[in-house]
Amino acid sequence: MRELLKGTQVTWLGHSAVLVQTHSGTTLLIDPFITGNPKYPADFKLPAKVDYILLTHGHGDHLGDAVALAAKYDATVVAIYELAAFLAAKGVAKTIGMNLGGTVRLADVAATMTDARHSAGTSDEKGTHYTGVPAGFVMTVENGPVLYHAGDTAVFGDMKLIRELYAPDVAMLPIGGHYTMGPREAALAVQFLQPKLVLPIHYGTFPPLTGRPDELQSLVKDFEVAVIEPGDSL
Ligand SMILES: [Zn+2]
Repeated sequence: MRELLKGTQVTWLGHSAVLVQTHSGTTLLIDPFITGNPKYPADFKLPAKVDYILLTHGHGDHLGDAVALAAKYDATVVAIYELAAFLAAKGVAKTIGMNLGGTVRLADVAATMTDARHSAGTSDEKGTHYTGVPAGFVMTVENGPVLYHAGDTAVFGDMKLIRELYAPDVAMLPIGGHYTMGPREAALAVQFLQPKLVLPIHYGTFPPLTGRPDELQSLVKDFEVAVIEPGDSL
């Protein structure tokens, strides 16, 4: 595992929230659902600095505490163009709006926005707003691993393109079912992506998210599925 990650630390914070700290110290927080996340590790302390907050889409369980955390850490929020603009209007000082297929450089990480099959839209007291389409991220760490966070998604055939273009070492895939793919579909995603390690996410948080890592592991015997607790690192 240490070989594979080359000094980059990947910590699961429950649901789809993941903290990535590269060997050179860049800190990325993906889908920071903290307040109201029943699986967020209560005793977990975020690091002293968070450089970037990456959002796969604007649903509440992914947008989470992004606005407050961006202010607290003076972090840059990276999201699809419409969601970035929505958050800028909410007072987020530093945003990078991008779009599917594009890559932005975040210090020693090249972050590429990938497809995801899901819905999008962000709700506030005024209703639900159009905030682009859902996405995933491939994070290519300089002299480090290639990480793929799929966001919320169904399985889709173009995951083969993600494999062909970026060859992710680690694939963080939703497996809970109901709102995303479950273990059966995620098993096909693993075949498409051929990662060295799978980190299941978006399961067990709420009762409908019934998919479990052992079901996925039993369907992809040739691949390693990491079973870790929220707050633990790969
Ligand atoms: Zn969602």
